[in-house]
Amino acid sequence: MHSLLRRQIQRYLGDPDSVPAAWRPFLDAVSAGYEQDDSDRRLIDNSLEVMSTELEERNQTLRKELAERRQAESRIEQSLSLLRATLDATADGILAVDHELRVESFNVQLLEMWMIPPQVVEAQSTRDVTDFMARQLTTPAAFLETARHLEAHPDADSFDTLELNDGRVLECYSRPRRIGEQIAGRVWSFRDVTQRREAETRLAYMANYDAVTGLPNRNLLRERLDRAIKHEARKGRSLALLFLDLDNFKAINDTLGHEVGDRILQLVAKRLLACLRACDTVARLGGDEFTVIVEDMASMDGVAALAQKIIENLSHPFPLDGHELFCTVSVGIAIYPNDSDNLDGLMKNADSAMYRAKEHGRNTYRFFTEDMHQRAYERLLMENKLRGALNRGELLLHYQPQIDVESGTTVGIEALLRWNDAVRGLVQPIEFIGVLEDTGMIVDVGRWVLAEACAFNKSLQEIGLPPIRIAVNISPRQFRQQDLVECVAQTLQRTGLAAEYLDLEITEGTLADVLEAHDVLERLSGMGVQLSIDDFGTGYSSLSYLKRFPINTLKIDRSFIRDILTDSDDAAITAAIVALSRSLRLKVIAEGVETAAQLNCLKLHGCDEVQGYLFARPMPGDVLIDWLRERQRDSAQAA
Ligand code: C2E
Ligand code: MG
Ligand code: MG
Repeated sequence: MHSLLRRQIQRYLGDPDSVPAAWRPFLDAVSAGYEQDDSDRRLIDNSLEVMSTELEERNQTLRKELAERRQAESRIEQSLSLLRATLDATADGILAVDHELRVESFNVQLLEMWMIPPQVVEAQSTRDVTDFMARQLTTPAAFLETARHLEAHPDADSFDTLELNDGRVLECYSRPRRIGEQIAGRVWSFRDVTQRREAETRLAYMANYDAVTGLPNRNLLRERLDRAIKHEARKGRSLALLFLDLDNFKAINDTLGHEVGDRILQLVAKRLLACLRACDTVARLGGDEFTVIVEDMASMDGVAALAQKIIENLSHPFPLDGHELFCTVSVGIAIYPNDSDNLDGLMKNADSAMYRAKEHGRNTYRFFTEDMHQRAYERLLMENKLRGALNRGELLLHYQPQIDVESGTTVGIEALLRWNDAVRGLVQPIEFIGVLEDTGMIVDVGRWVLAEACAFNKSLQEIGLPPIRIAVNISPRQFRQQDLVECVAQTLQRTGLAAEYLDLEITEGTLADVLEAHDVLERLSGMGVQLSIDDFGTGYSSLSYLKRFPINTLKIDRSFIRDILTDSDDAAITAAIVALSRSLRLKVIAEGVETAAQLNCLKLHGCDEVQGYLFARPMPGDVLIDWLRERQRDSAQAA
């Protein structure tokens, strides 16, 4: 029986065991009810307990989550404020854009740096901003190209240095901005590096230039010399290195002080620069030593003349504070590659040549090697003698006939220059044309040759000989002279020679500057003058110009003719030149024909005209007249 029921019975009815048996079933049923209540209560208790633990746990989690979110929010706030502060504090101009090219964020520095009005960034389009920036750049196209490239390649980086029209220099970085794996846009940052650049430039200047004269210093000289040697080596040309030492600078410096010394050095530098071409380098090595690099040296004689010019220029007094100071110079010359093929060797040799100049009494120049000195000296002598040759009437022309292969008649003559030197007698052009060319004297001499040749040809017609062409050689320098076309026109007019009887011979090298040459040739050809390419096959035979230029004749160089019978290459080249002339409808003439066998060979190939010792050597005008008359008589008799 349930204990509670037992206690109730005891309280109201006495001993529960003495309860009449008839009540038993009833009491059992009540007891079972009590027990059911008990078990129900226990169940409820249990459930309540479970529920309250769960509630408690849930509460705890919520509290934790809340705390975490608060923390996260404050962290975001902190980073945002940090970011903003950083953006505002940095000197860089920053522009952040999203992946659809809308402006997301920027800082004041960006606006100030680019002077961007608010409406441009507010327009929200990155293109508006980059276009606005581009307008301030010295090379806007490159920047816009980068910007377009980055639009097309959102994951690309870029770094550029931008130069603004106002002289500022900005470094520009552009990097993609990612969220996780995704590209969310990009960030542009611009840094003003103008001052750093200026400092770098100043430093570089100080490292490479002499503070007193502003000339390159030893450092830069070595760099330039090294580059020049490599350059000339590639082109197979020579260069000259001149070492200059002022003869009495030390005395000036010691007696008049450093300030006067410095001013003398500055004046010397100025005079040196005035003696040189823009492409030459003059440097100050320190003290009273200067150095000159002469690149693309035309001839030894040119260098000797330059050294002489420098010496002369410095021999004039320097006016300083009412005084006239004299400061002469000794010059040593070393030639690449003859004297040395490397930088240090050249410097050493130029230096020792300079000491030799000092030994020879100062105020003079010396080459490193004696024979070079001798050669330069002789050329200089020749130059001096040639200067007056034209006026003294020492120049004359010889004429060499040109024969038509088919008919054997004389169709032209070539005018060839000779120099009748008082001491040496008749000098061949091979010895002096180069000097005329290097010194520019060829322009005056060439003018004289042209006039003389045209007048002579006209005189041949006037004495009743059948009209023939006269070929006149035009050197590269003459061809470049400003008034060549006018000069030819005037000469023809003055002498009365018809243009068709004048044939100008130019070499392939002359045509290297295609554009300019084209214009000159067109004008000459337009006048009716004949044009020939002399020494064809020896120069840069760019076949393309033959088609483009109004050329009449190719003149095969005599070196091919010399060995045409023995050297199969020369024979093949000659055959090719003739075939080429055929297809381009050009006439072809061979020079240097000395034997009948050579003539036959050329005849077989189909060459039009020939010139050479086989028919006649170049001869004076009166001899040529006799020669022409005799040929005329012979052919009349034969007919
Ligand atoms: P070039 O124009 O190629 O002249 C042809 C040269 O070949 C001439 O030499 C001529 O005497 C030579 N020659 C002719 N036939 C023969 C031959 O059968 N055998 C050999 N071995 N040689 C022959 P030259 O007169 O000594 O002239 C040399 C070069 O000087 C000319 O070559 C030309 O480039 C230049 N030259 C001559 N006169 C003048 C001129 O008035 N002005 C300019 N700018 N250059 C000139
Ligand atoms: Mg010629
Ligand atoms: Mg020739």
